[in-house]
Amino acid sequence: MEKDYVKVWDECLAFIKDNLAGKENERVFDTWFRPIVPVRLEGCTLTIQVPSQFFYEWLEQNYVRLLKDAIRLTLGSQACLQYSIVMDTSISDLPLTTKVPSSGHPAVSNRLTDVPLAVQNQQHQLMNPFAIPGIQKVRVNSQLSSSYTLTNYVEGECNRLARAAGYAVAENPGKTSFNPLMLYGGVGLGKTHLANAIGLRVKEIHPEKLVLFVTSEQFMQQFADAGRDKTTSDFIHFYEQMDVLIIDDIQFWANKAPKTQEAFFHIFNTLHQAGKQLIITSDKAPSEMQGLETRLISRLKWGLSAELLPPDVETRMRILRQKLANDGMEMPDEVIEYIAYNINTNIRELEGALISLMAQSSLNHKDITIDLAREMVDKFVKSTSREVTIEYIQKVVCDYFNISVDNIQSRTRKREIVQARQLTMYFAKKMTKSSLAIIGLQCGNKDHATVLHACKTIANLAETDRQLRGWIDDLEKRFKE
Ligand code: ADP
Ligand code: MG
Repeated sequence: MEKDYVKVWDECLAFIKDNLAGKENERVFDTWFRPIVPVRLEGCTLTIQVPSQFFYEWLEQNYVRLLKDAIRLTLGSQACLQYSIVMDTSISDLPLTTKVPSSGHPAVSNRLTDVPLAVQNQQHQLMNPFAIPGIQKVRVNSQLSSSYTLTNYVEGECNRLARAAGYAVAENPGKTSFNPLMLYGGVGLGKTHLANAIGLRVKEIHPEKLVLFVTSEQFMQQFADAGRDKTTSDFIHFYEQMDVLIIDDIQFWANKAPKTQEAFFHIFNTLHQAGKQLIITSDKAPSEMQGLETRLISRLKWGLSAELLPPDVETRMRILRQKLANDGMEMPDEVIEYIAYNINTNIRELEGALISLMAQSSLNHKDITIDLAREMVDKFVKSTSREVTIEYIQKVVCDYFNISVDNIQSRTRKREIVQARQLTMYFAKKMTKSSLAIIGLQCGNKDHATVLHACKTIANLAETDRQLRGWIDDLEKRFKE
């Protein structure tokens, strides 16, 4: 009997979900697999519909293996997958939809950056502090900072999706399924930098487009001013002319400003319907936001929500190196490593530590050494907030056995590597709050059962194996250093 395509795809999804364990991967599943719609099955070729070209490319680049395995498992070794890419659908409540932008927006000019933030004359439709009224053309001070660029936005696992989406949006503002593009994450993780960088990139590729970056606070203030001056409709009209509107830190409106939220809701709808791009940052995912109007939150879920996570140690080192290079400074590698390993909260603090260290060294005419770094980091990071990371544990264990961290993450079954890997898992379980699944993921992509087994093995052996006991004692001392 012919298999039903919906069932076939459900089976594939179940397999994919199973193979994407862990919290991180739930998001991957929701972002990249849930929006896929099965459309038909002919012989053993399953056709699935994806929301955009970019989406298709991303799947092919990152998940082609998984998809292949899934489809072969359900339809046999001859199975084929075909994509159908949606190019033209109208807005709906689907989480990802591509829209065709409307043509023809007001004539614009791009000689705008660095223009003062003031209304220069009283042209009627454009009563807004960001507007620079001309004779016929709309000109806007984008309010973008020239130092937050995509080029100096260091890529890492922590921001890969957001950054890639940012590039896609900058190429084709309003025309990808990432509309709105929501960038969310904790403080100091690069939301403002990335949102700003996308705006700059749009201006570079599409100089004619009107781009505007505002903080939600500015927006609220302006709206209040407009209300007082009875120019609310001008205010709304102004915003509705933007091609790319970036609103930073929307959580600021939570539990206040219902009128502002309502005005933004209308602007959002007009822009979205006209195929204009919205980029919004927030400290939380739309689904976790509280105190914002429900209908606004539902709009925020339309496009792509990409989380910015705290960077891993490799990324932290790359960020430090880049900042130094930008400032034409140098620092011994061991100092960079020391800072990167010890400051793991967020990027703003990482930068702060670097600056303090440079200031200390120049004020006191001291060389930048590991000792100076240690002194500074101790002052900088309150000892209570210092949590050992899995990465740090890996490094200490690997240094102790004189092997490289890559070994632990490889599939090698060599005895000494297996032992180092198991010790890392054992200490990670003991010293961090990470789940078994997360520990496994970071130690060579193992599952939680493997981690559990490792922890038991080490604990059991430690009672009978004196050499192992010795290693554990040595390592414990090193962690306390
Ligand atoms: P947020 O808006 O999330 O609080 P910011 O965008 O203000 O964070 O970033 C804090 C600081 O960290 C800024 O100076 C920014 O340039 C820097 N930063 C953040 N992410 C990166 C990155 N990926 N590469 C380089 N610098 C970064
Ligand atoms: Mg910010």
